[in-house]
Amino acid sequence: MEEGIREEDVTIQQALQEGTTFLSRMGLEGARLDAEVLLGKVVGGGREKLYVNYETALNPRDKNVFRHLLQRRARKEPVSYIIGQREFWSLDFLVTPAVLVPRAETELLVEVALKAMSTSDKGFPSEKILDLGTGSGAIAVSLAKERSDVEIWATDLSSGALDLARANASRHGVEAAIRFLQGDLFEPVKERHGFFSMIIFNPPYVRRAEIPNLPPDVRDWEPRTALDGGLDGLDFYRRIVLEGDLYLAAGGVIVLEIGADMGVEVRDLFAGVSCYSDTTVIRDYAGRDRVVTARKTV
Ligand code: SAM
Ligand code: GLN
Repeated sequence: MEEGIREEDVTIQQALQEGTTFLSRMGLEGARLDAEVLLGKVVGGGREKLYVNYETALNPRDKNVFRHLLQRRARKEPVSYIIGQREFWSLDFLVTPAVLVPRAETELLVEVALKAMSTSDKGFPSEKILDLGTGSGAIAVSLAKERSDVEIWATDLSSGALDLARANASRHGVEAAIRFLQGDLFEPVKERHGFFSMIIFNPPYVRRAEIPNLPPDVRDWEPRTALDGGLDGLDFYRRIVLEGDLYLAAGGVIVLEIGADMGVEVRDLFAGVSCYSDTTVIRDYAGRDRVVTARKTV
């Protein structure tokens, strides 16, 4: 980049080309898209706006800011942290390094939860949902936007994450529908036995020994507490299977995201406890096991 940027004016098109070349030279696979998203942030209005202004000259200030953002990306900082935003469920979420960047595959969790609610409407006069480890609030806010009639309780161990989740709830006008509570798993709702019609959780599930092998964007930037699932990656599933039952109403549902190779193990954990039935492993759009649901026996 340093040698690539000329001192005279560059157009948006040229800046994009130079940014792309720089990022690919630095080993980034999605160099073009990254350059577009970063430049879209700098000029405002997002990457779509770049194409209508292709021949416009980039002013020197924007050129410098763009150069600075490219350098951050070259150090493998996730684009979402650099621009402070990420789209999830077609909603724009604020993200910072205090939270996991919400993943596209987690949208399946929202989809499955909505479906489970629509089929259990008769059983529950009002849905009470517990979103454990809410992070950016992606799941809680998306559910609240879809269903104005539900009551959502969202927890996280991290107060930084909860601050951001609250900001995201306000941003999308659903702050009144969600209560945010800090603490370890069920600790913040420990009085609420038999209270929830649904528990939803995308837990940390990376096997500890695999953390060093994660892509640097994830390993060096995302919160360890959002990733580390213990020695075999299953620590949180064991806890949910054992403790979840206490907080679910009869007929209530647990909806969990899982790692692609964890379907059998998580299903077996549920099978080992007599209070659950209808345990189901659901695949994502890439054909990988991604969600497990189980129902507390009535
Ligand atoms: N729900 C968000 C999503 O799907 O994008 C974030 C999921 S992230 C994989 C897991 C979250 O669980 C993190 O926000 C982390 O801080 C939180 N967490 C980790 N351990 C926890 C615990 N013992 N109790 C509550 N939350 C915890
Ligand atoms: N999907 C994440 C990854 O990039 C893991 C998230 C999680 O542990 N829930 O590996």
